[in-house]
Amino acid sequence: MLNNLREVIDESKILKNVDMTKHTTFKTGGKAETFIVPESVEDIKNVLKFLFEAKIPYYILGNGSNLLVSDDGLKTPVISIGKALSGINVFENCITAYAGATLAAVSKVALEESLTRFEFAAGIPGTVGGALIMNAGAYGGEMKQVTEAVRYIDPSGEEHVATGAEMEFGYRYSALMDTNCIITGASFVLEKGDSDEIREKMAELSYKRKEKQPLEYPSAGSTFKRPTGYFAGQLIETTGLKGYSIGGAQVSEKHAGFIINKGNATTKDITDLISYVQEKVYEKHNVFLEPEVKYWSD
Ligand SMILES: Cc1cc2nc3c(=O)[nH]c(=O)nc-3n(C[C@H](O)[C@H](O)[C@H](O)COP(=O)(O)OP(=O)(O)OC[C@H]3O[C@@H](n4cnc5c(N)ncnc54)[C@H](O)[C@@H]3O)c2cc1C
Repeated sequence: MLNNLREVIDESKILKNVDMTKHTTFKTGGKAETFIVPESVEDIKNVLKFLFEAKIPYYILGNGSNLLVSDDGLKTPVISIGKALSGINVFENCITAYAGATLAAVSKVALEESLTRFEFAAGIPGTVGGALIMNAGAYGGEMKQVTEAVRYIDPSGEEHVATGAEMEFGYRYSALMDTNCIITGASFVLEKGDSDEIREKMAELSYKRKEKQPLEYPSAGSTFKRPTGYFAGQLIETTGLKGYSIGGAQVSEKHAGFIINKGNATTKDITDLISYVQEKVYEKHNVFLEPEVKYWSD
């Protein structure tokens, strides 16, 4: 069935056996048999309509910075929303961006235009689409605060626009999560500010990240969501798991909330370590740690 995909999207945009270690910040995972790289909203609509009619499930990839892919690879097709769909425009205090634009690129444009309120996102290594789907946030900021509207395509290939309120953003949650809708772009409402102050704020947050987080190792940021009333890192540390390793995966010695790839980790090492941490933290504190990181397998 998948061979017929070329009837709806140019063959050059359908890649085969793509190494997912190159598309995840954890740098693990097997090969994606079918890796689709749409270059326009029309391409996405056509692909989704095709997959919908053929009843073929799919995965949506942004920058792979919150993702673990099975070492066995994926037969399930992957639709990659990245560089090919990453344009950014500015009108007065509003930035519109395609979903494949990175938050770093949007932050850079905001700085160039002296627009404030996007500083919090400068160090989050995701795309606009990946950040909106889970309401990414840091240092008191979150996508919810700046998002005016979101464009997306539902699994049948129909295009829609949701307002920020309709996105129902919550802690690492949006109404589009787990719906298989593909976000194609968004508009952000910012405020005129002072470019020196914006630059300073970004530099200060970047410094804080480098000081506290193990950015020198591959990871997907915080492995677990923050359980109500606790900090995941603190629970893991007080369970005595800082530095604990399985294969090439380790609970970071710098920040216990991060699991890192020390160099030769497999996805299985990481998922085994996640399960081990969950079990031990539950035994010690009676708190269940829910992974923030998504896991893909067939
Ligand atoms: C060093 C480091 C630091 C981090 N710090 C933070 C932080 O401070 N705050 C924070 O919130 N996160 C942080 N993260 C995690 C991660 O960057 C965010 O979750 C980010 O929003 C993921 O975006 P992505 O494009 O990489 O998504 P991916 O990892 O590619 O995908 C994640 C999920 O989003 C879905 N998705 C991606 N694009 C789309 C789209 N266009 N339409 C629909 N669904 C889509 C995928 O299907 C998947 O379910 C960090 C990660 C790293 C590695």
